[in-house]
Amino acid sequence: MSSIFDHPDFDDHECVTIVSDPDSGLSGIIAVHSTVLGPSAGGTRFWMYDESADAITDALRLSRAMSLKNAMVSIPHGGGKGVIIRPSGTFDREAIFSAYGRALNRVGGAYYTAEDVGVSPDDMRVIHTQTSFVAGLEEGVAASGDPSPITADGVFRCLKFAVTHKLGQADISGISVSIQGLGHVGYTLAEQLHAAGAKLIVADINEAALTKAQTELNAQVVDIDAIFAVDADVFAPCALGGAINSQTLPMLKAKIICGAANNQLATADMAEGLAARGILYCPDYVVNGGGIINVASELSGTYDPQWVDGKLDGLVETLADIIKQHDVTGRNTDVIAEEIALARIAAGKRA
Ligand code: NAD
Repeated sequence: MSSIFDHPDFDDHECVTIVSDPDSGLSGIIAVHSTVLGPSAGGTRFWMYDESADAITDALRLSRAMSLKNAMVSIPHGGGKGVIIRPSGTFDREAIFSAYGRALNRVGGAYYTAEDVGVSPDDMRVIHTQTSFVAGLEEGVAASGDPSPITADGVFRCLKFAVTHKLGQADISGISVSIQGLGHVGYTLAEQLHAAGAKLIVADINEAALTKAQTELNAQVVDIDAIFAVDADVFAPCALGGAINSQTLPMLKAKIICGAANNQLATADMAEGLAARGILYCPDYVVNGGGIINVASELSGTYDPQWVDGKLDGLVETLADIIKQHDVTGRNTDVIAEEIALARIAAGKRA
């Protein structure tokens, strides 16, 4: 067996903790990529994986992405992420999340969790019965609730900017947007886009979400494998990572990629592939920072909606700056974004 240090996504993680509690069924990973800018913060994912090695890879890639995201939105937090492997068959959800809360205590404040894929504010409530290293709570002094609507709002603002910049249209009305994943973030984004007059084409593995989107948002439903080739102006990946890969890249017809999913690019070279095809890629960790901004406000001890709103405008300003640099230099947007984030982390280290 090869060592974690040789893992292609290890990237000098400060700490990778395997968490296990056979009594409850908990198996997971808490990955702390960096605490240079402060204690790490990022959501916990609850998902089924074919192999436990895939869960480790997901945790490592997601926690590194959180380092970049948290630096990008200038909050006093480094990057970390939790992954809990969803058991097959029946399980006691409360017992798993309680055990996970106790595991967070063992990481000792180097990592604060909140919601991610497959996790709800009620799971955060259960975690909170065991630990204080948790946000995204619905009750408490600075409680901020589910971060997903704020994430969707940030993506919506960035998407609007990208449409104006790339397509020369001042608003979203009449723009077609294909959305992969109608979960907590994807559905809220769909609602905002619908309210702004966009035409929606959607795909999900969850039939109930599709029916709801058809009924409430007049969305056109396509098969999960067909979403990549939809002839839409914008493609918004809002499911799991790796939506843009060597198979899907040649299929894309959208002129803009702007969505909530973390790690949309299966490999870094996809950014160059998108740029070569004239597709504007809005880097995921630049546009989906709304949720962690909301979490950071809660973690500061006083939830401040005005500060959050200003920070959401900041996402658009950062995206505009990156696109401007891209237009001037021809370098792809992902490379430019990563350079900015890494420079901020390096400055934090020097300080
Ligand atoms: P969620 O679990 O609520 O939703 C994910 C949705 O994707 C579900 O409806 C699921 O059925 C669907 N899905 C899964 N596999 C699919 C496939 N192959 N094709 C189509 N749909 C599929 O999760 P969420 O909180 O909405 O997060 C969505 C994405 O946004 C994730 O990548 C997450 O890491 C990222 N993100 C979320 C937040 C947040 O605030 N929740 C913040 C930043 C980034």
